[in-house]
Amino acid sequence: NGLKKYFPITGGIFGGKKGEVKAVDDVSFFVNKGETLGIVGESGCGKSTTGRLLMRLLEASDGKIRFEDKEITRMSKTELRKTRRDIQMVFQDPYASLNPRHSIEKILEEPLIVHRIGSKDDRKKRVQEMLEIVGLSSDHARRYPHQFSGGQRQRIGIAKALMTKPKLIIADEPVSALDVSIQAQVLNLMKDIQKEFRLTYIFIAHDLGVVRHISDRVGVMYLGRLIELANSEVLYDDPKHPYTKALLSAVQIPDPDYKSEAIQISGELPSPSNPPSGCAFHTRCSVCMDICKTTKPEYRSLDGHYVACHLYNR
Ligand code: SF4
Ligand code: MG
Repeated sequence: NGLKKYFPITGGIFGGKKGEVKAVDDVSFFVNKGETLGIVGESGCGKSTTGRLLMRLLEASDGKIRFEDKEITRMSKTELRKTRRDIQMVFQDPYASLNPRHSIEKILEEPLIVHRIGSKDDRKKRVQEMLEIVGLSSDHARRYPHQFSGGQRQRIGIAKALMTKPKLIIADEPVSALDVSIQAQVLNLMKDIQKEFRLTYIFIAHDLGVVRHISDRVGVMYLGRLIELANSEVLYDDPKHPYTKALLSAVQIPDPDYKSEAIQISGELPSPSNPPSGCAFHTRCSVCMDICKTTKPEYRSLDGHYVACHLYNR
């Protein structure tokens, strides 16, 4: 796959309890059990690819991904199939992942059939139960995807992801295609479900505003690299990387005390397949220095606040 060429995973661990993923150019991140890690960046930054690599829907060209005590990247097909019960995805466009010719019941029971879970009766029961949990009615089971609105379809997408009782859900821009008013409803639903089922989320978005309230920690990606990662409050109150600052200044923050430096991102997003030398952001950075053009900044921790920028390399 071509994506792998510019988005190598170069080693890392992912854990249910405590582990880490070293994704993208020796950068590492971990997700703690029960928390939400937001991953934000413009399209083409590699965030969806990261999600797919974690699921091994794409094979990493290099590196390790660990889930609980097992290394996903070294699993056999059988082991991988078992692990996929525990890790499910919610997609941006639920319509594309719902077979239009299948009833909601058939769509929802499919993951159970794939993983050989329960009897026909058990499956039916669980379908009803899940529909109610996501705020739909159990008699929606006999309807078809086109009979639902975008928001309802995303609820069905969420129900489908929950069918196998996963531990981790990777949500790839789950609300990006929805109206703003519906976005909040779906985000609240996801929050409630997280509490109820003690789920861990990796929540991918292109906008820092969307992940603010759902994420415990947020990582920002740029051209296949993680460039900053911190606890949510810290990241939004005290962003360090010029790219994060620019992204934040574009988000409406309803806080009169919020001091936005309103850094503008100038220029086009370079091609992800041929990122600029040194700091990949240097072609658009308003505080670019000479060293930025030639030397890749190290991704380092400033008391648990990770940032890759020469401004902080000293
Ligand atoms: Fe800007 Fe240099 Fe920092 Fe890159 S390393 S974000 S170019 S200051
Ligand atoms: Mg994407």
